[in-house]
Amino acid sequence: MRDGVNGKAANPSELTAETREAFQNNLLDWYRENRRELPWRQREDDPYAVWVSEVMLQQTQVKTVIPYYERWMSRFPTLKDLAEAPLEEVLRLWAGLGYYARARNLHRAAQQVAAEYNGVVPTDPEQLGRLPGIGRYTLGAVLSIAFQQKAAIVDANVMRVLSRVFGIEGDPKANPANARIWALAESLIPDGRARDFNQALMELGALVCAPSDPNCEDCPLLNVCVAGNSLDPTVLPQIPAGKRTVHVTHVSTIIRLDRRVLIIQRPPHGLWGGLWEFPRRVCEPRETPEECARRAAREAAGMQVRIVGPVGTVKHAVTHHAITLLGYEAQLISEQGGKHTPAVRWVTLEEMGTLPLSAPQAVLRETYLRCLERENAGGRQYPLPL
Ligand code: SF4
Repeated sequence: MRDGVNGKAANPSELTAETREAFQNNLLDWYRENRRELPWRQREDDPYAVWVSEVMLQQTQVKTVIPYYERWMSRFPTLKDLAEAPLEEVLRLWAGLGYYARARNLHRAAQQVAAEYNGVVPTDPEQLGRLPGIGRYTLGAVLSIAFQQKAAIVDANVMRVLSRVFGIEGDPKANPANARIWALAESLIPDGRARDFNQALMELGALVCAPSDPNCEDCPLLNVCVAGNSLDPTVLPQIPAGKRTVHVTHVSTIIRLDRRVLIIQRPPHGLWGGLWEFPRRVCEPRETPEECARRAAREAAGMQVRIVGPVGTVKHAVTHHAITLLGYEAQLISEQGGKHTPAVRWVTLEEMGTLPLSAPQAVLRETYLRCLERENAGGRQYPLPL
């Protein structure tokens, strides 16, 4: 395989004007014809809308994001609405999207913009970049899409397209390849077209230059693409073998008292920070799930319980962790002992459904609801199939 356009290393300063122009024109023409009508594209000049959509789209597929974005925008149509909302409501609208630090940072950043910039999103890269949760990617997205500034956006799609077009070898997430990709992404932006150009590059990666099955025949960049003209375009980018998946078992205890269950709120930081859940612990080696369920009740909520039976199993993946969550119903024996969080509530399952829950806890709650429905119908069965 050649190692760059015209057989040279893909150094932005060495791109010929002809290559640059062909890349820009072909891509923009293609985008005009093929761009998807997505809800956030109706508000491209609104930095708040761009910001929210780009944060939601990190690590999450477009089709998953659409209903979340629409619900969010109907509840928080402006940055001021978001800044004034309680964090609990923000987390509830985010529940199921994962990576909750994104929602907490958006909320804090909106409050900061409201307080320090009179509610107007700053156009200055330094001011914008200092806001919570604004990394290089989000900064580039807001500056280029909302404000038409020449700032690059490099996501997994852009990394793949540029690695292939310019024949960039090495891990695209590590230097020197990563630095070259960012430099290329910035140097290719045509004057006054940052909004369309950056979105076109991401759209091409999503729709045409697929990871394992790129559609080179229909690609507008084929005439300038190193990988597209090689025997196997999928050789690039050179992604190192991923981290081994770690399997872990969590156990949650559903402590029931009449029509209510006990839930606790997690501390504000870390995975699932600020969300509500049934008392939960990671199952230790050599510990049975029932032992872990009793320990979860004791350590997380300060309750001694008797286990009634298993409720169901929920599978969930977070980064390189494959989590199996086992739910157990339990009866309260006494309230004593153990270190536990002060954020404990007794709620009905309906009330629990209105609080922000992590995705696996939301599934466990629904599973338990179905279990109780069967109980009311006189035919209880454990465990329930999911
Ligand atoms: S020609 Fe093929 S490899 Fe190159 S950018 Fe297009 S789809 Fe990707």
